[in-house]
Amino acid sequence: MEFCDECGSMMHTEGDVWLCQSCGNEQPRDSQAEAELATTAGQQDDGPPPVADATTDDTETVHQPCPAEGCDSERADYEMMPKPGGSYEVRLFTCVECGHKWRGT
Ligand SMILES: [Zn+2]
Ligand SMILES: [Zn+2]
Repeated sequence: MEFCDECGSMMHTEGDVWLCQSCGNEQPRDSQAEAELATTAGQQDDGPPPVADATTDDTETVHQPCPAEGCDSERADYEMMPKPGGSYEVRLFTCVECGHKWRGT
């Protein structure tokens, strides 16, 4: 989770930047996490996010194959979890089909 330097609002990921929806401030996202995400299934993050059905809340849904056995879902909810003592964050995925949770590395 990232907060705006300008107004302190919670920021949202928009392409490769954090975007403040309150004041429009942009900050670059963690390049390491981005590089790992970009190499996963060649996902390009530059368009508007695909509209998820009724599962939309304040988490993001991303293209992420579910590792659970017997589940062929390729979409998961995506949360950023701050890493204690570190400057970057880890990603927590939740499968939209079976609810399986796993941690991005
Ligand atoms: Zn702001
Ligand atoms: Zn699943």
